[in-house]
Amino acid sequence: MNTKIKFFNTMDRRLEEFRPIHPGEARMYTCGPTVYNFAHIGNFRAYMFEDLLRRTLKYFGYKVTQVMNLTDVDDKTIRDSQACGMKLDDFTAKYKKAFFEDLETLNIEKAEVYPAATEHIKEMIALIKTLVEKGCAYQAEDNCVYFSIAKFPEYGRLAKIDFENQRSGVRIKNDEYAKDAVADFALWKAWDEKDGDVYWESPWGKGRPGWHIECSAMAMRYLGKTFDIHTGGIDNMFPHHEDEIAQSEAANGCTYVNYWLHCAHLMVDGDKMSKSAGNFYTLRECVAKGYSGRELRWVLLGAHYRKKLNFTFAACDQARATLAKFDELFSCLKETAATGNGSEVEEIVSRAKNAFDTGLADDLNISEALAAVFGLQHDVTKLLNTGSLSKPGAETVLAQFRKFDEIFGLFEVDAEKGEKIPPEVLEMAEKRRAARAAKDWAAADAMRDRLKESGWTVEDAADGFRVKRLD
Ligand code: AMP
Ligand code: ZN
Repeated sequence: MNTKIKFFNTMDRRLEEFRPIHPGEARMYTCGPTVYNFAHIGNFRAYMFEDLLRRTLKYFGYKVTQVMNLTDVDDKTIRDSQACGMKLDDFTAKYKKAFFEDLETLNIEKAEVYPAATEHIKEMIALIKTLVEKGCAYQAEDNCVYFSIAKFPEYGRLAKIDFENQRSGVRIKNDEYAKDAVADFALWKAWDEKDGDVYWESPWGKGRPGWHIECSAMAMRYLGKTFDIHTGGIDNMFPHHEDEIAQSEAANGCTYVNYWLHCAHLMVDGDKMSKSAGNFYTLRECVAKGYSGRELRWVLLGAHYRKKLNFTFAACDQARATLAKFDELFSCLKETAATGNGSEVEEIVSRAKNAFDTGLADDLNISEALAAVFGLQHDVTKLLNTGSLSKPGAETVLAQFRKFDEIFGLFEVDAEKGEKIPPEVLEMAEKRRAARAAKDWAAADAMRDRLKESGWTVEDAADGFRVKRLD
């Protein structure tokens, strides 16, 4: 039996108990990046919220299947690949790779599937065909295929917009809109010369899918016609998610998603962080300023997902100081040698654990979860300062922090003290050792030089080697 979790369902605008379709399993779809640039930390607020959601479901015993799409064909990817004279695939491959590297920096858990839009055109065409056959979509004079919102009376249910009045109005036909009604949205975009060599053949001529149909087709392909959770930033709610609902439910005749979860924006000086406003930092820029993935992770996780979060570098500095205090606590806990049976911490640990679990199960209330963690830190520090924490007690506390870290993914409970040696440095040192063993002195010296260039030196030891930073 899994712990009961409540989520704020955007569809009903209220907290609801999570009841998955398949007991013990959670199937979720999260709108992923458009791979035409490096993601900014505003985007990562959304992915971090989804990581928290995923980790929380797993923490409470659910088997999670998460699907996150990669939008690798749209106006922006086509425009920017052409601007730098690259083939679309090569261009997007670069940013897909960067995206996965960034996820690793932030220790965001991998989704089970990352479908790319360009690899699922067949599914998209099939879905559009169904909609056309059902009379919910039409090909207009501009050769594009549009979804007719007049055929879906529930349109606007997620965003709480009343389209009834708008629909009863005039049918718009002018230069800009070949479509029947303004809110009708493109399922298939007919090729034009701006698209260059980017197109697929379809029953409606050559072209490419619209953005909304990509998500519906890929979600259904991997999660079925109805699945548990769909997430994204709040700006995705309308029109993107509204359109996903319309086309999916019109095609399948059943509910598309049971729980809609949306996170609020990451802000800078009171404005939403966004590429178009130019007020953004990529993760890489923050790392170049000297902030680590875990410091940024701490900042991005710090506020409840439905509250706006204002980004500042002062908050990153604060994160560094806070995490250093936890590091110190962990090493003190490891050094404590007092005897006893650990009963002195049982109550405080279980109190912290219960508060932590209750907070998380309450719509991912991270503030309550953090309060429980800080409370434990405070109580344990007091015991340490008075010399009343036994070795088994310290072990219990460390074990609890490891458990907390299933959610936070940033405590270095078991980190060795001292500087971490980068894996590529260790690899060079190992190559040097192997070269020496093979009496290939030239290769060994070359490796030593490469280590030196990277700022490291290697010393031989009876059991192998020691790598040290050059002074
Ligand atoms: P995009 O690449 O613009 O489609 O955005 C990818 C994801 O990031 C979507 O889920 C957006 O809702 C989300 N997003 C974009 N900007 C922000 C922001 N400033 N704060 C939080 N989420 C954002
Ligand atoms: Zn989407």
